[in-house]
Amino acid sequence: MDRVIIIGTGVFGLSAADHILQRWPNIELSIISRPSPLAPSEDISKIVRIDYNNPKRMEEALGAQREWNSTSFSKFQNEIGRVVIYEDDDLATLEKINNAREEHGLPRRQTGDGTLMQKHFGTGMAPESLTCVFASDDSIVDWETCMADARERAKKACTESSGTFYESGVATIVKDGAHITALQLENGEMIEARGAQVVLAVGPWLAQVLAASDITLPPNGRTPVATGLFSYAVQLDDEQAESLRNKPMVSHNGKGRFFFTDSFTGSFRDGVTETQDPIIARHPEFQNLVCAAGGSFNRAKDLPTIGGVVADVLGGRPVSDRYGWEPKTRDSHHDHPHLVGRGDFATMEKEAQAQQGAQDSAADHLSLAVI
Ligand SMILES: Cc1cc2nc3c(=O)[nH]c(=O)nc-3n(C[C@H](O)[C@H](O)[C@H](O)COP(=O)(O)OP(=O)(O)OC[C@H]3O[C@@H](n4cnc5c(N)ncnc54)[C@H](O)[C@@H]3O)c2cc1C
Repeated sequence: MDRVIIIGTGVFGLSAADHILQRWPNIELSIISRPSPLAPSEDISKIVRIDYNNPKRMEEALGAQREWNSTSFSKFQNEIGRVVIYEDDDLATLEKINNAREEHGLPRRQTGDGTLMQKHFGTGMAPESLTCVFASDDSIVDWETCMADARERAKKACTESSGTFYESGVATIVKDGAHITALQLENGEMIEARGAQVVLAVGPWLAQVLAASDITLPPNGRTPVATGLFSYAVQLDDEQAESLRNKPMVSHNGKGRFFFTDSFTGSFRDGVTETQDPIIARHPEFQNLVCAAGGSFNRAKDLPTIGGVVADVLGGRPVSDRYGWEPKTRDSHHDHPHLVGRGDFATMEKEAQAQQGAQDSAADHLSLAVI
């Protein structure tokens, strides 16, 4: 393998760039970058956690956490911990998490009630019916800075490897028989791709790019469905900011009611698969096309590691069946059971924007979940 072209500079594309160069230092690497404000990797902060109810997913998260703690990534993270709030009907998830922790030789999470919030935040307002857990090893990542750093590294890598960092999007992928032969960019430029391995890491846009190029999509359930989360920005005054400094994060793992207020800032999407595991696999009809997408709201933490799987696929090494084009088992970790692709998100977002400012316009059909 002499040449690789990566399309997309989100978590999957940038992690792939790092790992491909580590594995093949003499390769010519080119990257096609066209960030979007809707992309999940454009957020300002991300959580790194290990608590998953599926032992295999927990193992991957443990591997990622080790990297965040011990490599050059560590300067971007702050281990402030997280209070996780569970509703009664979600306690089965906590039990599964504790079972997975035991499988990995980790202690069970101690459960508490609202007094845990009192301890950390000095407020006793949390309803008593809630179960609270303090995950002291969860960290928050200064994500914008971390991603800017990764993009700079990728740009430099392209130059140093005699490749090119293109600042445009791919309009269509051109094919001939079983090969991708060229990439037509949105700015009209045509890139020769004959003899190169192409990594398509365009997140929730995977189906769109493949369809525009008349290329077969992954099977049902494996094509990442663009699914969105609404985001809110809260302006704190100095006193409020000081009272929250270095306090743990808080997540509420349950359904919520959304109120569209002035703090509504828009939405981010992610590509969600049926199993909530990404697809990192060679396209079965093309010898030089690898698809890597489907973060399913939980793969930012894998920035230091997930590119290793892309490199494995490129190098012909076996990878977990869960990442496959058509996995033999569809055993989902269902980490975000409420967050599945449904409806037309663009319409929901328009509705949300139209309702912005209305104090009591809750939308019950939307749900809130922990990332
Ligand atoms: C609101 C939110 C919060 C989250 N929080 C967490 C968290 O705390 N912890 C965690 O672990 N995970 C979290 N996630 C999940 C995580 O952010 C995603 O799984 C991950 O960012 C997915 O990365 P990606 O590379 O697949 O996708 P993307 O970020 O979408 O990257 C794909 C890139 O390709 C570009 N692109 C699209 N089309 C083209 C084209 N035609 N040509 C060229 N480029 C193109 C896009 O603009 C984008 O830049 C969160 C997700 C969301 C939405």
